[in-house]
Amino acid sequence: MEDKAVVFDIKKFAIHDGPGIRTTVFLKGCPLSCRWCQNPESQDARPEISFFPHLCIGCGKCLAACPLSQPAGQVDRELCLRCGKCAEVCPGEARKLAGRAFGAEELIDEVKKDKLFFDNSGGGVTVSGGEPMLQAGFLRGFLKLCRINGIHTAIDTCGYAAWEDFEKVAEYTDLFLYDIKVTDPARHLEYTGADNGLILQNLAGLADLKKNIIIRIPLIPGYTDSPSDMEETAAFISGRLGRRIVRVELLPYNRLAEAKYAQSSIYRGGSFAPYRLEGAEPQGTDYLLKLRGVFERSGIPVFLEAM
Ligand code: SF4
Ligand code: SF4
Repeated sequence: MEDKAVVFDIKKFAIHDGPGIRTTVFLKGCPLSCRWCQNPESQDARPEISFFPHLCIGCGKCLAACPLSQPAGQVDRELCLRCGKCAEVCPGEARKLAGRAFGAEELIDEVKKDKLFFDNSGGGVTVSGGEPMLQAGFLRGFLKLCRINGIHTAIDTCGYAAWEDFEKVAEYTDLFLYDIKVTDPARHLEYTGADNGLILQNLAGLADLKKNIIIRIPLIPGYTDSPSDMEETAAFISGRLGRRIVRVELLPYNRLAEAKYAQSSIYRGGSFAPYRLEGAEPQGTDYLLKLRGVFERSGIPVFLEAM
């Protein structure tokens, strides 16, 4: 049987997920539960029904269509069959099904539609999530098809996967976008639910394989954005990775996820890790330049995403 992956979004004309113009494919399922998760709909590997109360006109069509008679706004996530019948009949997109199974052939046909843009801009495909490495078998097959079709490939990963899985996909991956949140294992465990020993070990392994790596640091106010965090990450890069990475990218905090959690009732409670950053303010320019300076002083190429 064909290996399929659950895709929760395909973003075209992406310009922040690697070089050039890219199509970013988001796979569902993540082994971490970060306190600041920007994509709560990606956490569970299964398709997911969201409900956006501000878009609901109270027509009751979803209730009539649901085999389990689950009312709008009160869907029991454990019982829900994730069939999407309620979303199909909803006139206002108040109910949405995040996640649909794709085979590698179907997905390559979809991304190939934008090959002209990739070729003209030096772009390609980025597979993100969730955590794409959770579906390493599918990923290897899909990336191989990209290679056959002359499409540049990148994987956006948190690094928390078995090394054997990285070995599986490395052959067909042109670039790794690799997250480092904090280097301290205890704080990493507290913030994400997982120790970072495996993550740093895999990163070093990819550097040893001489893969192209961009290290991305999400700057989360009060969690990952102190100058001493930058110093520790810079020391790890200099000490263990040498000069083999392409660059570090600093990703300033934004409040988009806060709105997402506030809008959809499904992200409050259940198995979702609660959002803990209500009211947190994005970093100011001077502070961001100070953080960037830590890497510059260490001789590490660094890019600060648009402020
Ligand atoms: S996805 Fe299916 S089972 Fe779940 S609430 Fe919608 S119609 Fe009901
Ligand atoms: S079908 Fe959509 S708009 Fe109608 S009650 Fe259900 S969620 Fe609300």
